[in-house]
Amino acid sequence: MDEANERVEKIGETSGCEVQTNQEPHEGMGFESESAAKSFYDDYARRLGFQTRFLSSRKSERDGSVISRGVGCRGGSENRSKGHESCSAMVLLKKEKLGTWVIRRFVRDHNHPLVPHSHISRRELDEKDIRIQELTAELRVKRRLSTAYKEHLITFMKDVEDHNGHLSTKIHLVYDNLKKLEREELLRRK
Ligand SMILES: [Zn+2]
Repeated sequence: MDEANERVEKIGETSGCEVQTNQEPHEGMGFESESAAKSFYDDYARRLGFQTRFLSSRKSERDGSVISRGVGCRGGSENRSKGHESCSAMVLLKKEKLGTWVIRRFVRDHNHPLVPHSHISRRELDEKDIRIQELTAELRVKRRLSTAYKEHLITFMKDVEDHNGHLSTKIHLVYDNLKKLEREELLRRK
């Protein structure tokens, strides 16, 4: 099964705003929020093989909120005569009166080759994710273990201290006995 068929989730909730993530952008396409529109374009970019960037935005004079936003391709081409020419592929998103966001302009063509993610690299990415999760879990276990070790060590050191306490009492006794013997010895010699 290809990736486009796997991902058929709806972004918009309002009727007439229903969008499937495997669609190509087109003018008039609506979204429930700016971020939903942005992530739709990001998904599309990932599928086609380019990276996105924010372009210009326009703010409302009334309340300063963003009312239009361009999201475009990050790529470009190197040209001998003109130097770097940035790619003009983009979507222009505009906020509608009811708070929905609509694609008002769509530029499809890129001035550079696209590098779609192959299924293998996608799988590698998944494997890396899994590995990171495993390592995180391992680290969590190690941290728990090290707490347990620390507790063991503290108990052990406490035991040693107690033991030392006993030992020093014993040493004192031996020392006292020795002193007593010495004294007796001295008395005997006199
Ligand atoms: Zn491009």
